[in-house]
Amino acid sequence: METFEQLLAESTRIHGHICAGQVIGVRMAMIALERIGIADPKGADRKKLYVLVEIDRCATDAIQSVTGCSLGKRSLRWLDFGVMAATFVNLETGRAVRGVAREEARALSEGYCPDVVDKYQRQLEAYKVMPEEELFVFQEVEIEIPACDLPGRPLRRVRCELCGDWVQDCRERERNGRILCRACDGERYYQPIGEATPVSS
Ligand SMILES: [Zn+2]
Ligand SMILES: [Zn+2]
Repeated sequence: METFEQLLAESTRIHGHICAGQVIGVRMAMIALERIGIADPKGADRKKLYVLVEIDRCATDAIQSVTGCSLGKRSLRWLDFGVMAATFVNLETGRAVRGVAREEARALSEGYCPDVVDKYQRQLEAYKVMPEEELFVFQEVEIEIPACDLPGRPLRRVRCELCGDWVQDCRERERNGRILCRACDGERYYQPIGEATPVSS
């Protein structure tokens, strides 16, 4: 695996800027991969790795960058919990570890890099050198990933009986004997302008 500095440079490039979140995400991912026995996440081990992130903030891009996992490959899953945490799974061995960024790290970072004047810059530099136990809590976990959530071809494609959209990966809903997409089942997140066009059967 590449060095911390190389991985940080790459994640900074992908994310668009350097920030404390990049340092946190890169370090968390490196530690977690080691713990679950993944040495070459973007090469030989790429099909063994699955990551669940619990927040859509800066560190998530770093985790994606280090692990090579992505939404599009279905190897990265976003759970909207709003917690700076992620679970890293070795699909081959079943070993999984959940890492959480400690809130205390902010205060602890004040004891590092006193020569850096700017508060946020100091925090960023501190996160690079602080011992991992000050930054994170890691816990071994057991996790079962549903077949419908794994990479590979869709297990199922069905058509919504109301709007006609095709629904993949078992995300359809059954309501009163009808197969519906989530939007038609009451989860529509937008308001259509003008008239919706129902499927003529
Ligand atoms: Zn950022
Ligand atoms: Zn529908």
